[in-house]
Amino acid sequence: MRNERNLFETFCYTKPDHRAKVREIIEVSARNFDEVILDDFFFTSCKCADCVRAKGDRSWAEYRMALLTEVSQRDIIATARAVNPHVKLTIKYPNWYEHFHGMGYSLEAQPKLFDFIYTGTETRDSVYNHQHLQPYQSYQQIRYFENIAPGRNGGGWVDTANRLVADRYAEQLWLTLFAKAPEIMLFALHELIEPLRAEDRAPWQGQGTSFDYDAIAKPIDGLRETTLARVAGASLELADRYLGKLGRPVGIASYRPYHSSSDEDFLHNYLGGVGLPIDLHPEFPADAPLVLLTAGAAHDPDIISKIQKHLVAGRDVIVTSGFVRATQERFRRDLADITYTDHKALTREFWGYGIGKHKLERDILIPELRYNTNDSWELIASMTHGLGYPLLHYVPYGEGRLYVLTMPENFGDLYELPAPVLDAIRQTASKSLFARLQGRRSSRCSSTTIAPRSCSRSATKPRTSASSPIPRSRRCATRSPARKFRARSRKARASLPEIGWSSPRR
Ligand SMILES: [Zn+2]
Repeated sequence: MRNERNLFETFCYTKPDHRAKVREIIEVSARNFDEVILDDFFFTSCKCADCVRAKGDRSWAEYRMALLTEVSQRDIIATARAVNPHVKLTIKYPNWYEHFHGMGYSLEAQPKLFDFIYTGTETRDSVYNHQHLQPYQSYQQIRYFENIAPGRNGGGWVDTANRLVADRYAEQLWLTLFAKAPEIMLFALHELIEPLRAEDRAPWQGQGTSFDYDAIAKPIDGLRETTLARVAGASLELADRYLGKLGRPVGIASYRPYHSSSDEDFLHNYLGGVGLPIDLHPEFPADAPLVLLTAGAAHDPDIISKIQKHLVAGRDVIVTSGFVRATQERFRRDLADITYTDHKALTREFWGYGIGKHKLERDILIPELRYNTNDSWELIASMTHGLGYPLLHYVPYGEGRLYVLTMPENFGDLYELPAPVLDAIRQTASKSLFARLQGRRSSRCSSTTIAPRSCSRSATKPRTSASSPIPRSRRCATRSPARKFRARSRKARASLPEIGWSSPRR
């Protein structure tokens, strides 16, 4: 990084004198320390005349990944080892993993070169944020990076930046730890010693949420003021009660090929936010009973044949509407005659097998998928002005089951879908797991519970790695409605059909 205040001005690795400066910095670092970590500005966005010339016909991603892989080997690693053969080198990646390749980070090449990687789980505020960062990413990205470099993901890195309320900072810490990060980095001291501000108290405080701002912000004898360090301390103490009880994280296997970007970047984290525990892999998870694919998976030129093989072998696949669009002709020819059209629908009514009709208070915008009658089936549809639009679509294929999940144009509208609709999606997507999330959304709060997959498993306490350790009675505004809700949930669970487990008959 040359100048953080000039739109994060990076080094130009095309220029020899910039590379010489980088070698000088790493040489001083490695000579004085046995562990060196590159913070997340080891990328380049330079488009100077030298870079334009050197890039030639290649894409920026191709040019920059080749360049920074070479810089990693020659200027960073070789230089550091020359002055300190025992130095351990860690490359810390930021939170914008869907766009790394464009700036020269290679998740395929670099983790093999460095001793360790480190995961930026700083998700900050999920609403006032231009990066599409959702809280769930603080969990998901740790798991994804663990799948990229098993056993060499050093930890999660959280900062206090861009928070509107203190709760969001605490959640990043919790989610990083629940993902089983071996270590957590609190960046940085100058941020941690900032005093709490009046705005740090969220509007929903005082309703029994797990982050109790008023208790944390109470003056402490001998301290002049309460700082963000106290928020971190109290949050970590709370999480510490549960960390020893965590099992092996599990989730719905999903696939993001290296260096893929799509119209559905960061969608996995919205899906995680509605209760689909995501387990993202850099290779196609061929052994998984069910694989979830977003548009990014279309980057793999062999993806359609991999899906075919998976389905014919009796396994299941869920694809999003964006995946259908990205593979359109191949999808129609080899999988099912489903078309992603240019039509959009403003819609608020939903209907599905076994869940009845449900209505939202406002419209959401969805794309229209067209399909051949009697060739594939709408398990959940959206209705508006006499027209139906598939939301969860089902295609029997080989011995397996293929599902198409329509994504709202604004992924944030996933959070608005009626709870019975989300429950049916959760049930379909998590049917290979021993537990699934089930819940409701109200105007005051959202509430989830973990439902055992079947009665036969109920002797074992169900647990998912993405679950909250906070007592359920404290997750909602009041206790008695939560208890009532659990009773209703049990009833609803018993009545939900096993959608798509056998072919619907018409
Ligand atoms: Zn340049």
